[in-house]
Amino acid sequence: MSELLEAAQQRMERAAQLIGLEDEVVAHLRDPIETLAASVSLRRDDGSAVTLKAWRCRYNSSLGPTKGGIRFHPSVHLGEVQTLAFLMTMKCALMGLPFGGGKGGVEVDAHDLSTMEKERVARGYVRAMAKILGPDRDVPAPDVATGEREMAWMVSEYSEIAGSIQRHAFTGKPVALGGMPGRTPATGRGGHIALEAMRDLAGLGEEGGLTIALQGFGNAGRWFARAAENAGHTIVAVADSSGTISDPDGLDIDELVEVKDDKGKVTAYDGGDASDDPEKVLSTECDVLVFAALGGVIADEDDVKALNCKAIVEIANRPILPAADSALADAGIEVVPDILANGGGVTVSHAEWVQGRQGIDWDEEDVTDYLEQKISDAADNVREVMQECDTDMRTAAYAVALRRLCAAISAHGTRA
Ligand code: GLU
Repeated sequence: MSELLEAAQQRMERAAQLIGLEDEVVAHLRDPIETLAASVSLRRDDGSAVTLKAWRCRYNSSLGPTKGGIRFHPSVHLGEVQTLAFLMTMKCALMGLPFGGGKGGVEVDAHDLSTMEKERVARGYVRAMAKILGPDRDVPAPDVATGEREMAWMVSEYSEIAGSIQRHAFTGKPVALGGMPGRTPATGRGGHIALEAMRDLAGLGEEGGLTIALQGFGNAGRWFARAAENAGHTIVAVADSSGTISDPDGLDIDELVEVKDDKGKVTAYDGGDASDDPEKVLSTECDVLVFAALGGVIADEDDVKALNCKAIVEIANRPILPAADSALADAGIEVVPDILANGGGVTVSHAEWVQGRQGIDWDEEDVTDYLEQKISDAADNVREVMQECDTDMRTAAYAVALRRLCAAISAHGTRA
C-alpha cells in the first residue's frame, strides 16, 4: 500500500476507534476494489508521439457506483489517485449520496497542451478506461485542470464506444450536453455554506464579517471568494502560483477574476500589495485561511508554526497531511475538513446524474436548494458527533461517513 494511502487511513482509524466500529469494516475499506493503470498515447500537433501514464481507481462501491474526478497533473501518481479515491469514498458517504468513491488521473501538464492535444488525451483516457466506467459502475467528473470541455469530449467518446448516448456516465458536463446549471460554482459555494454552518464550532462566533485569506484562485477558489464576499466577509489575500496579492481593506473579487482571466495571474491586480511569494498567503493574519489549490500544503509542525489564522477551510482535497493534525490541534486551529468543505461538487454531480437518468431538466433554484440542504444536513450530522464524542470536526466527519459505510457493508454480507 502506498505511504500516502496509509497515512490518509490514520484518520479513518481514529474515527473508527472513537465510535467502536468493527475491525471488519475498517479492513474492508483498507484497499481499493480495482485500479486500472494504462498508457495513453498522444500524437502531438507537431507530429511527435508521447505516451502518458494514466490511472482510474474504483475504491469502494458499498454505497453505489464509484464517483470522482479525473485530474491532469504532472505529479499525479498511483498512490495519489488511490488516496483521493479513498477520500471520495468518505466524502460521498458523509454527504449521504448513493455513490462509492473513485478517482482518475493522467500524468501530464495541461498547460503544455494545445486544445486539440487536450481533446486527444481526454478521448484516449476514455478509450483506455472504458471497461471500468459506466453510469452504474464508475462515473467521472472534473478535477484539477479538467472541466466542462474535457467532460464533453469524454462523454462523447464514451457514448461512441457504448453505442448509445450515455450522458449520465459523466458529470460536470456543459449545460448544452445535459450538464447542471450551478455545477461549476458548486464546490466553492458549498465550501462557503460549510463555513457558515460550522463557524461557531470553528471558534469564529455565530455572526459578523470574517477576514479570509485564500490559496488558489481557480474554479473552486473564485466561487468560494464570490460567495464569501456576498455574505459580507473580507477577502484580505489571494495567492496563485505567481504570488500573493493582499489588501487588509479587502480585494474586489469580480475585478480579481477579470485580472486572472486576462493576465493569468492574481498579482496583476491593480491596487493592494503584490508579492511574488505564493507562500505569503499562509502567514497572512486572518480569521480563516482557505486552501483551494493542491494537496500536501501543510505537511508538518513547522508548516503549522507559519500560520496566522484561527480556522482553516479545506476546499482542495487533502491540503493538510495527517502528520500536521496534532500540531494544528495544539495551536487551537480548527479545520473544516475537505470531505465536508468540498462536498458541494459531488453533491451537484449527483443531481446531474439523477437529471440524466430522469430525462427531465432541473432548474438552478432546485440545484441551489439541493446543495444547501445536503451540506447543512452533513454539517448537522458532524456537529452531533462532535458533541456526542467530544472530538474534532474531521474525526466527527469520518465517523458519520463510517457509520453509513458500515451499515451498507454489513447489509451487503460478503459481497460488498
Ligand atoms: N473532483 C471533485 C471532488 O474531488 C468532484 C467529484 C465529482 O463530482 O464526482 O470532489
